Amino acid sequence: MTIALYPGTFDPITNGHLDIAIRAANLFQKVVIGIYDTPAKNLLFTTEERVDLARQSVAGLPNVEVEPFSGLTVDFAATVGAKAIVRGLRIGADFEYEREMALMNKNLSPDIELVCLMASLKYQFLSSARLKEVASLGGYIDDLVPKPVAEALKKKTLSKV
Ligand code: ADP
Repeated sequence: MTIALYPGTFDPITNGHLDIAIRAANLFQKVVIGIYDTPAKNLLFTTEERVDLARQSVAGLPNVEVEPFSGLTVDFAATVGAKAIVRGLRIGADFEYEREMALMNKNLSPDIELVCLMASLKYQFLSSARLKEVASLGGYIDDLVPKPVAEALKKKTLSKV
């Protein structure tokens, strides 16, 4: 079975992430969305919340699973039997970062390939960071995230007022 790992912070999962997961699920027999436990980022949602929101968002995709992980991405890829790591590329923003990370991962684990999918045009501008900023200011975000995520963002924002 060809398995791919789609790793990231997913704080929270957006329609841009989902678009990549759906397209990867058309290419691979199984896709594991790996939710990184301790990124060097300020998180709004706990690992459990990020996993739960991602699981609700991919509930209709039979060959997509969601699991939390810590440690090296290549180690988690080996644990789930993934031959490929999938990442999404937005114009300008992501290429240099992914290139550097891919070369380091190749050095650590030569058998695992990176597969980058171009972010769809309609999601090029979408990042979890910008989404959280807009949501915290009361902006309309319902067209950018799965429904459970929109509800969770509104709850978090209200609880902080
Ligand atoms: P990380 O902290 O690993 O960058 P993110 O949750 O920010 O985690 O992103 C996970 C992956 O999804 C990355 O490959 C990122 O480039 C990609 N991604 C983020 N936003 C989008 C988007 N709007 N469209 C397509 N891919 C995206």
